[in-house]
Amino acid sequence: MNKYDVIIVGAGAAGMMAAITAATNGKSVLLLEKLSKIGSKLKATGGGRCNLTNTLSNDDFMSSFGREGRFMTPALNTLDYKALQNFFKTIGVETHAPDGFRIFPVGHNAKTIIKALEREMQKLGVEILCSQKVLKLEHNGTEVTGLTTNTHTYITKNIIIATGGMGYPVLGAEGDGYPLAESVGHKVTELHPAMMPLKTKEKWGANCRADTIAKVELRVNIKKYRKLFAIGDLIFTKEGIRGPVVLDFSREITPLLSKFDEVPIVINMIKGMNEEQIRNHFKSELKKENAPTILSLVESLLPTSVAIELCKLAHADTELTLKKLSGEVRDKLIKLLANTPLTVNGHDGFKMAMITRGGVSLKEIDPNTMKSKKVNGLYFCGEVMNLDGPCGGYNLQWSFSSGYLAGKLL
Ligand SMILES: Cc1cc2nc3c(=O)[nH]c(=O)nc-3n(C[C@H](O)[C@H](O)[C@H](O)COP(=O)(O)OP(=O)(O)OC[C@H]3O[C@@H](n4cnc5c(N)ncnc54)[C@H](O)[C@@H]3O)c2cc1C
Repeated sequence: MNKYDVIIVGAGAAGMMAAITAATNGKSVLLLEKLSKIGSKLKATGGGRCNLTNTLSNDDFMSSFGREGRFMTPALNTLDYKALQNFFKTIGVETHAPDGFRIFPVGHNAKTIIKALEREMQKLGVEILCSQKVLKLEHNGTEVTGLTTNTHTYITKNIIIATGGMGYPVLGAEGDGYPLAESVGHKVTELHPAMMPLKTKEKWGANCRADTIAKVELRVNIKKYRKLFAIGDLIFTKEGIRGPVVLDFSREITPLLSKFDEVPIVINMIKGMNEEQIRNHFKSELKKENAPTILSLVESLLPTSVAIELCKLAHADTELTLKKLSGEVRDKLIKLLANTPLTVNGHDGFKMAMITRGGVSLKEIDPNTMKSKKVNGLYFCGEVMNLDGPCGGYNLQWSFSSGYLAGKLL
């Protein structure tokens, strides 16, 4: 039976980066992956284009992760986005930020990233074994001694858990890291699927599916949670809402949905205009055209399909002019335009979740090393920990940075 300096569980972004770092530092490394191929989730990222990271400063980057974001300080100081770009350059992948923010491999193909990582691991002598599902950590109470897979027991003094979260389970991550961590005394926080489309009680949006609406603001309409909001592009679906803004917003909504059966939200689809600004806008439109219909007024703010649905909701006859509309209906329409109510009442669970909210508690992990405070020789990296960021390269950067730090085996 071979003895390795370190065994890494999971060949995703975090695990592969940890393997490369450890091997670069002269360690003998075994990387175990339960699927038949490495990097399955990485391949699917960014719609196959792999949004590796973004150009935010470390401070802004961390604040996007919420209260726990500061935990990332040492990892980002060790490998920030520029260092990550440089790393990929040295292993043969040029990267760029076409929109000045999100960073992709120049070829916009996630496979180039996986191939480069694989090549580098081979060059450094990392032993990679696929179809090896780690089932159990071996330890003597104070330190790890090895682990057991579906077929073998391996001996080692260092184990890095890089098993990811629970989203898109077909891509490998099914939450296996949580019981492994718990088996040596780690706590796992509540787990929620996040970054996913949401279902709504109202079905009128199904008639507005063709349009992408830019800069939509979504806000939770429960007093205690009103500060929870997101802004970005929105698309209606047959069953609810999707699009970048919904991916981000769902991180806040799914924990609430496990408390309440339904979550009322309000959306503003007219670039944040308030009721007064809408009234003024209508007035200026009235000057432009002689007696425009209600529909053409609302169409000056929204795609036709959405304009029609909002007029229906306000019981406003689309063919009437504004003057002919009763004051009550006009006020209702303006209110609806500023704050369109929707009720989120479901989602498709982890099956469609790009990220997991929650994970191994950060309290028992040393942020300077990624080392367990519970048992010697155990390290964590990537999504398995209780940290998740929004859409836009945040989660991969965190996986690479934490993998890099864990792989140093400090
Ligand atoms: C469709 C999709 C698109 C995404 N796009 C982006 C994007 O563009 N940018 C971005 O920043 N983030 C994106 N994300 C999120 C990002 O992919 C993850 O946060 C990141 O991949 C997590 O990396 P990881 O290494 O921690 O886990 P994973 O990449 O999930 O890797 C974990 C690995 O561990 C293996 N494993 C699990 N359990 C065991 C076990 N018991 N034994 C052995 N192996 C095991 C799994 O098979 C898997 O290969 C996307 C996610 C999805 C689902």
